[in-house]
Amino acid sequence: MRPRNNRIMFSLAAFIFLGVGALLFYRRYSAKRSSMATRPGGFLFKIGYFLYTRTRLGYMYHLKNLTKMRQKFPEGHSVVTPVEFQGLKICPIPLLEDNYSYVLIDTTDSVAVVVDPSDAEAVQNFLTEENVKLLGILTTHKHWDHSGGNSTIKSRHRNIPVYGSSSDSIPGLTHPVSDEDRIQIGNFNFTVKFTPGHTRGHSVYILDGTPYSAPDSLFSGDLLFIGGSGRMFEGSPLTMLRSLDTVCHLRDDTLVWPGHEYARDDLKFAMTVEPDNISLQNKLKWVEDKRKERLMTCPSTIGEEKLYNPFLRTSEGKIQQNMGVKIEKDDSEKIRTATLAAVRQSKDSHSYRL
Ligand SMILES: [Zn+2]
Repeated sequence: MRPRNNRIMFSLAAFIFLGVGALLFYRRYSAKRSSMATRPGGFLFKIGYFLYTRTRLGYMYHLKNLTKMRQKFPEGHSVVTPVEFQGLKICPIPLLEDNYSYVLIDTTDSVAVVVDPSDAEAVQNFLTEENVKLLGILTTHKHWDHSGGNSTIKSRHRNIPVYGSSSDSIPGLTHPVSDEDRIQIGNFNFTVKFTPGHTRGHSVYILDGTPYSAPDSLFSGDLLFIGGSGRMFEGSPLTMLRSLDTVCHLRDDTLVWPGHEYARDDLKFAMTVEPDNISLQNKLKWVEDKRKERLMTCPSTIGEEKLYNPFLRTSEGKIQQNMGVKIEKDDSEKIRTATLAAVRQSKDSHSYRL
């Protein structure tokens, strides 16, 4: 082999070695405590995150993970029960290690919309079992554990719209959305809220419950979990604070359908932030009982979340004090931003989740 070819081969091998190494770091960091190098902003984190979100390697990793998790949880990570209203059925689908996709069925017309279908096969099997026609896909953000099934599902259901933000590279995107957009698919009416922070294009969808005599439903992706919030990969604490405020302003009875089953872990962490909070203690106990039998913990409501979720409680003096936030000037947004940053940092060193 000529020296030039040797150099090319060496560079290729080095790239693959670095890439695989970085992905391994990314995986490791997703479940365990972070080190300086793998924290957001750290060198290895940046490489791993770039490869995961922007290259084929990320998708290959996702497919490998799907196979692994299907073997680990042949029946899904949680036991789920659809929630039914008049003419509407909301069906959580447990996918991967702790993700939820949601199939919303209009039971009058036997049509459905799916939110964040990371596993095309599992979602397709569910649609076939339910004998419903798929009308569209809503995507909260680009991460493969939310959008990984978009392209395959779209190829099976020709001409269905795929909604999501154009600021995120969402697979199969046909209908870019903006803040306050109204989406009508069949009889379903959604409002879009642009909620950047976790990713730069993260968006959430609110289903109008009125036609079904139901409360509204928020599909919150990785912005809001039960007792927690997603990591700030692509946004500042101030950006995230404003996104969290957006959902805080929804009606208190709005149902919260999060992207992950993180409730137990998140509420345990919340106890370190606000140990005297009775609502928090009660919710943790309720969640622990549910999880003993691997039962799903969703939905909660916005009203409930405001009582115990530390990421929505940054205006609480007690939390600011417990987080050691000291700002002389009486600037409420500044204090709350500093509190959110401190809660986030504390959570990341407590247990590291995506
Ligand atoms: Zn995510």
